[in-house]
Amino acid sequence: MRIKKILIANRGEIALRIHRAAHEMGIKTVAVHSTADADAMHVRLADEAICIGPAPAAQSYLNIPAIISAAEISQADAIHPGYGFLSENEKFAEIVESHDIKWIGPKPEHIRTMGDKVEAKRSAGKLGLPLVPGSDGAIEDVEEAKKLALEVGYPVIIKAASGGGGRGMKVVQNAEELESQMQQAGSEAKAAFGDATVYLEKYLGNPRHIEFQVFGDGEGNAIHLGERDCSLQRRHQKVLEEAPSPVLSKEKRDEMGEICSKAMADMGYRGAGTIEFLYENGEFYFIEMNTRLQVEHPVTEMITGIDLVREQIRIAAGKPLTFTQDEITFSGHAVECRINAEDPETFMPSPGTVTWYHPPGGLYVRVDSGLYHGYKVPPNYDSMIAKLIVYGHTREGCLMRLRRALDEFVIEGMKTTIPLHQKLLEDPEVQSGDYTIKWLEEWLEKDEDV
Ligand code: ADP
Repeated sequence: MRIKKILIANRGEIALRIHRAAHEMGIKTVAVHSTADADAMHVRLADEAICIGPAPAAQSYLNIPAIISAAEISQADAIHPGYGFLSENEKFAEIVESHDIKWIGPKPEHIRTMGDKVEAKRSAGKLGLPLVPGSDGAIEDVEEAKKLALEVGYPVIIKAASGGGGRGMKVVQNAEELESQMQQAGSEAKAAFGDATVYLEKYLGNPRHIEFQVFGDGEGNAIHLGERDCSLQRRHQKVLEEAPSPVLSKEKRDEMGEICSKAMADMGYRGAGTIEFLYENGEFYFIEMNTRLQVEHPVTEMITGIDLVREQIRIAAGKPLTFTQDEITFSGHAVECRINAEDPETFMPSPGTVTWYHPPGGLYVRVDSGLYHGYKVPPNYDSMIAKLIVYGHTREGCLMRLRRALDEFVIEGMKTTIPLHQKLLEDPEVQSGDYTIKWLEEWLEKDEDV
């Protein structure tokens, strides 16, 4: 089926990103927006725009009846959910499909499986993905947990089955702490996610976060587009991402990539997905799978030359994958900096009106952002206001260009994390790629002592 009009159920830079891919394919777009976003760039550029509610996301970007009505009124034949908001809501996916609208995303049952972390881990194990040693499914009994913790060795981590965004996790150092921490994790999970189910796994001391981009056609064919290294994190939030990982050999990439794409083929996975791993001492450990487009997808686009959103749209239209694995090549290096409207030292949100805007340009420099001169950043949503993505033939060249681009970037009217990125790039360990998921927080603490 040909897709002629896509409703974009999102806002900000990702709504623009989807609009751009759609227009390049000759597809019309419908923006939906809250009253707070009436002047947003995604609303201005779309062919049509429909207001779906007031500023709070629960009443607008998460308002399923309003979004479905907007799709019907505008006669959109497909919905792209972007990331966040409703992108991993299998009920929404089902509702969209039941209205005979194409869902630009995975099959609802796969969203459900991967959304429950216990079930996700179990399926990942069955599909041959290497797991973090730990409980096979949920764990309730304290004695059983103690036995298991001894087997895998302390420290261990108790995680909420319904957890997300780095919340609902407790690191346990010894058997004495286990019972109380388990109870606490359970009640916190119940309060935060309405589900007290927890599971246990070995706590890895100093891993990297490396994730694989995969695509499936839903018919048993799948490919991988290599990895992204997202180890630079603060409070489990990614700050800077790069592809390829500075520590992975071609052999290891090919081996892991193949395991991932085979798993997706066996599952009959449809659309874009990301399989996240912790990587320590040369070994991969599955932590979760995201059944959607990721914020950091552009670094993969830069080193493969493949437009991931275009590929998502083609698959939703029932077309085959554009590339076979053999046709996919990786060249050069790409880094993405997430730029937030935040104080670069305290990380306090700093929304405001853009009084001057000058994005960097030049060869191999990409800025994904909805900012413009005079735009008022609403305080209601995520603080990420721009992504700067830079490519280079070598990692070193890429970092040099990135520094140049950051120096050119002007956003006035609010505090941003540009100075944080500038400082990060001066660090010899960032320059050499020698960092793990703990590195950034330790570096920030050190910085405070100065
Ligand atoms: P969420 O869905 O909340 O993001 P994840 O399972 O993806 O949860 O874990 C988030 C982060 O927590 C990881 O990127 C890593 O930093 C840390 N983490 C999770 N599991 C472990 C583990 N077994 N050992 C060490 N760190 C872990």
